[in-house]
Amino acid sequence: MNTSETQLIDGFGRKIDYIRLSVTDRCDFRCVYCMAEDMEFLPRAKVLSLEELATLGESFVNLGIKRIRLTGGEPLVRRGVIDLIAKLSALPGLDEVTLTTNGSQLSKFAKPLKEAGLKRINISLDSLNPERFARMTRRDMLHQVLAGVDAAVAEGFEKIKLNAVVMKNHNDDEILPLVDYAQQRGIDISFIEEMPLGNTTAHDLKGAHLASHGIREILSQSYELIESAYKTGGPSRYWTIKGSDCKVGFISPHSHNFCDTCNRVRLTAEGRLLLCLGNEHSLDLREIVRRHPFDRQHLTDAIFHALSLKPEKHHFNLDEPPQILRFMNATGG
Ligand code: SAM
Ligand code: SF4
Repeated sequence: MNTSETQLIDGFGRKIDYIRLSVTDRCDFRCVYCMAEDMEFLPRAKVLSLEELATLGESFVNLGIKRIRLTGGEPLVRRGVIDLIAKLSALPGLDEVTLTTNGSQLSKFAKPLKEAGLKRINISLDSLNPERFARMTRRDMLHQVLAGVDAAVAEGFEKIKLNAVVMKNHNDDEILPLVDYAQQRGIDISFIEEMPLGNTTAHDLKGAHLASHGIREILSQSYELIESAYKTGGPSRYWTIKGSDCKVGFISPHSHNFCDTCNRVRLTAEGRLLLCLGNEHSLDLREIVRRHPFDRQHLTDAIFHALSLKPEKHHFNLDEPPQILRFMNATGG
């Protein structure tokens, strides 16, 4: 088979043109919905090297992937990630490389990231209140993150978006302040429904659940929201605020299942190709790149065939204990 001009199409006819690469499972935060406080991270030998990540990125682009998002763990704690971004950005056929970060290192890295070719950046920010931020991330680092947001804004990326996971009785009273903060900086914001992944025993998942329409109701008390057709290739559905350029997105894995238009796959830090965030179907690409380091065709054939494993949809259910016992940091959120 010649896969060099093949598009990745799964068994349900969905074209896959977006991959999220987790470049590390490590992180300087311990967000309550993502990690346990005492995490055991992967031994280095099990994590894909930067060269392996570059090889895999190139193979995916040869198979028609148009967007690569680097995530983690915290991608900016991985040494050498800027060089990886520069390499990936230069791949012919790729539309863009983007990054999801907790912002803690952005003061230092905003400029090198822009120089490496990064155009869009998502920064996670759940609270503007220092004590609450420290409770949710288990780290007292709001100050660094806000400085990081300012550094990114000053650098003039094409697009900056905040991501906030909203949890009832934790930070739902910050929905408006977070939107105001984004508007004042000329950036966008998406609100994410918490997903039942990893070790979630630290809090009551069902009690903390706030559906996207509930968030829109809160916003509607202060703003007129207008539904928008705007798309970025991700699962966010967008609304605009009347009289403002600010777009407010909603990622709603519970209340609005977006599986029918899913265009993505994920590569974990240890090289497992995950076909769906809510299922365990996967292929060990690390084993393939390490066993056949010079055989690109073997790799592209394996990826191509793995697509038939992509399930139709995820089935998150708040009435059941989490089915997926991976942590989000290892998965690549
Ligand atoms: N460390 C980076 C960050 O926090 O932006 C990148 C990795 S993080 C896993 C990517 C995104 O996943 C973040 O926006 C985070 O808030 C989100 N996330 C983590 N665990 C989640 C969960 N259980 N439900 C919904 N979103 C989650
Ligand atoms: Fe780290 Fe991001 Fe997970 Fe928070 S959400 S613990 S910042 S990987």
